[in-house]
Amino acid sequence: MSSTNINANRFWSPKVHNLLPYVPGEQPKLSNLVKLNTNENPFPPSSKVFAAMQGQLCDSLRLYPDPNATELCQSLAKRAGLAVDQVFVGNGSDEVLAHTFQALLQHSEPLLFPDISYSFYPVYCGLYGIDKREVPLAEDLTINVNDYQGPNGGVILPNPNAPTGELLSLVAIGQLLTANPNRVVVIDEAYIDFGGQSATQLVPQFDNLLVVQTLSKSRSLAGLRVGFAFGQSHLIDALERVKNSFNSYPLSSEAQAGALAAIEDEDYFQQTCQANIEQREQLAGQLKALGFSMTQSHANFLFVTHRSMEAAAIAAALRQQGIIVRHLTNSPRITNYLRISVGSASDCEMLVQALTELLSSS
Ligand SMILES: *Cc1c(COP(=O)(O)O)cnc(C)c1O
Repeated sequence: MSSTNINANRFWSPKVHNLLPYVPGEQPKLSNLVKLNTNENPFPPSSKVFAAMQGQLCDSLRLYPDPNATELCQSLAKRAGLAVDQVFVGNGSDEVLAHTFQALLQHSEPLLFPDISYSFYPVYCGLYGIDKREVPLAEDLTINVNDYQGPNGGVILPNPNAPTGELLSLVAIGQLLTANPNRVVVIDEAYIDFGGQSATQLVPQFDNLLVVQTLSKSRSLAGLRVGFAFGQSHLIDALERVKNSFNSYPLSSEAQAGALAAIEDEDYFQQTCQANIEQREQLAGQLKALGFSMTQSHANFLFVTHRSMEAAAIAAALRQQGIIVRHLTNSPRITNYLRISVGSASDCEMLVQALTELLSSS
């Protein structure tokens, strides 16, 4: 009955014993925390999202939602300048990525991704039994696309990369696509709206490109769970086949309506992205003045290391003040770094205040 009974594991399918699940950033229940650990957007979603979702809360909840999220896909396609059969939507980009690993990246050669990157990638490799080769970042923690060549089962990388925030140009991504003509290259653009140029414009040119995006970060909708992918229709077909062998209705009717409203409110989107970027640049300047150095982030977080105080000690001291940042320890090269989400102006002020006191007393 209880999982403390070791014998209970006899009920598990054999592969479950060997899974190494992803550990999400904590979501503490305490109020008054300054929560800068999971890259949530400090701005609320567009008010049009609430109105659209409320419109769905009616008798039609009896009915299954549109399995194809048609209106949402049409809106996404139009915005990206693509056809509707070049768009796929799912329950958060994590689900879109899961289907991508299964549908397009499961080959006999190893999948390539950076050694310092989104830590869900190795988890999907474990789940689907995909061989992987983690390619080291350069000394300065940037990606060199020339390192992603030779026999492989595909390439996946975030752009901007997480947790470094470093951005690759579209020229570099074009080189990556050209170097791997017979394998799919997945560009995970969770943070692209905070100052990067999306690779979606390369979709018509490259039959091996899949671009994955999410409403969680730049549209302030992490709780809604909507993600999507853009690619030529033969790639989208593969994702649809897996999706319809797994869950035909991944997006609720409320999620579809809210997502559509968010996509259509372009003004609010531009305004909040710009405000996040300005806040990031201001915070970067303040942290540098306190003795931090950092990668060049184009995302809604900073990846910082201090010249004298250790990252673990800083994270622990901040926590005492109710400020939560992310200390990632999955690679020895980054154990002295902290990933700090760009919060609201007042969150950032409290962070800088706490760090100023901490570093002057240490
Ligand atoms: C946050 C994040 C995701 C997942 O986003 P969801 O749509 O909320 O599942 C995917 N990739 C990267 C690199 C992320 O940081």
